[in-house]
Amino acid sequence: MDRRKLLKRGLIASTGIAASYLFGCNSLISASKEKGESHWGYIGKKGPENWGNLSSNFYTCRLGTNQSPINLESAVNADLAPLNFDYQDTPLRIIDNGHTIQVNYNSGSILTLDDEFYELLQFHFHNPSEHQVKGKGFPMELHLVHQSKKGSLAVIGIFLQEGESNRVLQQIWQGMPMKQSTEKTISNIKINATNLLPKNKDYYRYYGSLTTPPCAETVNWIVLKEPVQISTQQIQKFAKIFPMNARPIQQVKNRFLLKSS
Ligand SMILES: [Zn+2]
Repeated sequence: MDRRKLLKRGLIASTGIAASYLFGCNSLISASKEKGESHWGYIGKKGPENWGNLSSNFYTCRLGTNQSPINLESAVNADLAPLNFDYQDTPLRIIDNGHTIQVNYNSGSILTLDDEFYELLQFHFHNPSEHQVKGKGFPMELHLVHQSKKGSLAVIGIFLQEGESNRVLQQIWQGMPMKQSTEKTISNIKINATNLLPKNKDYYRYYGSLTTPPCAETVNWIVLKEPVQISTQQIQKFAKIFPMNARPIQQVKNRFLLKSS
């Protein structure tokens, strides 16, 4: 689905900044150039410690009080409703947006959360994981980004752990661009994000932010407890392109962390 169709359906949040996060960073790059602002990265002067100073649009990265990722340590047991996934097959639409490998999803795949429908827009990867459990990270983390008609976001985080080669990731990795590019569609590869989910759907839940600039605090975070396996070779292929694309752990401050048991 293109941007115009999404606008018609009211699925794009009102700011172009949030939209650029959801659809890859190319529009953010051009917007930044127009405004003479710096782009961001993961090391050095443009790294996470300085994101809040790189642009007036990024101040939340520095001043926000509900930032992500976090260490999931002090979560309390709660009677959380089971997650309801209804994901459809989609042709592989893949892009290296300069910060990650992202797979854009065709419309019509829905996560139901709190009786609200969230449409799956895209998923992407971080190396190493951004969230931690009791201070321990994982080799990688997958983020499935969903948006409701009202514009609120629900992101599902799934830890990727070294083990068996992952069949769905193998299909995606086959189409992985080895350098920054515009989106390419590989129509003979059909994928379904259902096959990326672990068997056990128990999860942590908290309210946080985008883990990339502009760090907007608009995200219902759901982090699944059970990791999914990925082979060493698959991790290495991703790491060749992105040796490090994870934001450091942020403070929990006054937030409630919940977990289903
Ligand atoms: Zn992410």
